[in-house]
Amino acid sequence: MTVLYKANMVRGAEWATFFAERAPDMPFRLWPDIGDPATVRYLVAWQPPDDIAAAFPNLELVFSVGAGVDQFDITKLPPHVPLVRMMEPGITERMVEYACMSVLALHRDLVQFIGQQRDQVWRELSVTHTSERRVGVMGLGLLGQAVLERLKSFDFPLLGWNRSPRSIAGVTCYAGADTLPDFLGQTDILVCLLPLTSETRGILNAKLFARLPRGARLLNVGRGGHLVEADLIAALDGGVLSAAVLDVAEPEPLPAGHPFWSHPRILLTPHIASTTKPETAVDYVLDTIARHRRGEPLPGRVDRDRGY
Ligand code: NDP
Repeated sequence: MTVLYKANMVRGAEWATFFAERAPDMPFRLWPDIGDPATVRYLVAWQPPDDIAAAFPNLELVFSVGAGVDQFDITKLPPHVPLVRMMEPGITERMVEYACMSVLALHRDLVQFIGQQRDQVWRELSVTHTSERRVGVMGLGLLGQAVLERLKSFDFPLLGWNRSPRSIAGVTCYAGADTLPDFLGQTDILVCLLPLTSETRGILNAKLFARLPRGARLLNVGRGGHLVEADLIAALDGGVLSAAVLDVAEPEPLPAGHPFWSHPRILLTPHIASTTKPETAVDYVLDTIARHRRGEPLPGRVDRDRGY
């Protein structure tokens, strides 16, 4: 009944401590010290090994250590083994914090002020009241909804766009591809919190940017693959967009010399918007294992056909 962890090793040591505390009878091992592979029933990984089916013949559950699963090659996972994504409260807490910080930074022209400081320019920019700055979130899942909930306190008019219909108090919700132009036309700050799938890859492109009000702002906290990079540069240089905060890129790390490093209208962070918090993630994993043993549905189970 071993749990094998294969991800960030510094956090792995924390996972080991919390596992020992909360499930002393359940063996927990850190990659590459796998022990007897036949005893591995649960794998917690950012990227699983390629030969997963052959390497661990008695695997029962695979957990993505992150909220997304786009980094997994789902076709290599044994068909009978459920893939479960991380839905622990620490991820949500940190994403809400980062998204609110970034939306406020975009709202209050922080990207422009950072450039002005670099150029030693002391110049005011006009201030828009939050009630006149519309914030639209793409992806109304666990994280998108939590971010919107916290943004309510700033008085921004709020919009959301999702695949299936949602009803969220205080948020004008749109559903489906047909409604995307209406949603975009009313969005001054666009937040991408979609999963990366074959449907959403490249969704942040020139056509989408052109539907936003001129000078709109972008926050991408989804995945680098959502964004067509050349289209973003062109939109920023041509005034279609006025600033972007990007937490994700493709590939990561962003290569040296990439135009995003030095673009005056881009604020870049190295995929740190949110990270899994070992203390709460261990509880989530133990709870999911217990549900699995009782034969109950698993809340974070990934639908392999949808890809999230
Ligand atoms: P969820 O699965 O809870 O939510 C995803 C939402 O996106 C669902 O509401 C889903 O709609 C919607 N969606 C999926 N496909 C489409 C589509 N084609 N068109 C419109 N809407 C769509 O995921 P989370 O909220 O937990 O996480 C979202 C993403 O955030 C992750 O996949 C990951 O990429 C990113 N992330 C980034 C982090 C970072 O540090 N930068 C950290 C954590 C997550 P429906 O209701 O119909 O299923």
